[in-house]
Amino acid sequence: MVLQKIFRAVIMGPPGSGKGTVSGRIIKTFGLKHLSSGDILRANINAKTDLGLLLKSCIDQGQLVPDDVMSRLILSDLRAMDQSSWLLDGFPRTVSQAEALDAVYSLDTVINLDVPFQTIQQRLTSRWTHLPSGRVYNTDFNPPKVPGFDNMTGEPLVQRDDDTPHTVTLRLKAYETQTEPVLEFYRSKGVLETFSGTETNKIWPHIEAFLHRKLPSVNQKAA
Ligand code: ATP
Ligand code: MG
Repeated sequence: MVLQKIFRAVIMGPPGSGKGTVSGRIIKTFGLKHLSSGDILRANINAKTDLGLLLKSCIDQGQLVPDDVMSRLILSDLRAMDQSSWLLDGFPRTVSQAEALDAVYSLDTVINLDVPFQTIQQRLTSRWTHLPSGRVYNTDFNPPKVPGFDNMTGEPLVQRDDDTPHTVTLRLKAYETQTEPVLEFYRSKGVLETFSGTETNKIWPHIEAFLHRKLPSVNQKAA
């Protein structure tokens, strides 16, 4: 019997750096479970609970959700997939969140997407999202088969309320001040792997090759 090691990874990068797109490819190729903080928050907002209202007001102002709320949401979801390999996307985004995660799980790798801010500004304003699944399209480089509709379900795509130019600027600012220090946290632990570029399709082969080296023993889906 071959023992399969559990593999735990985080993907980081500024808003709109392609975390959602790259995560989709990673889970398809390597069969990890995917947990996206943004998707979890948007699901709570759609449920129109009191918590959802609080979350929406933070997000629409380009601010981060408070650490205690965020860490509680994510760690409780992670507990439900204790026996699985996973990829976390969008969490941690502050040093305090990284410490909360570190207290419970040790990570095998942290993939950092290093994309220039200027590229991101352009990208986010041409982004369309399928809210129920989190699938994202870009009218410039990754358009849906039928404009305005999701490839898998045929359901309508929307532009996120927080993808306006002003809010994008605030989100990038929050990234600089609150999230960049997390990179240092992981660099000092020796798990940070940075991939630089302006196009997801060019960055992806490097990430794929890296992960093939990194997790040969994990159950990889047949290519
Ligand atoms: P992308 O779509 O490329 O992932 P993004 O990372 O900015 O861009 P989401 O991850 O969807 O977008 O997050 C949207 C918003 O949700 C953030 O701008 C922030 O307000 C909030 N948010 C998401 N994750 C966290 C977190 N870990 N801590 C605090 N707030 C968060
Ligand atoms: Mg996201």
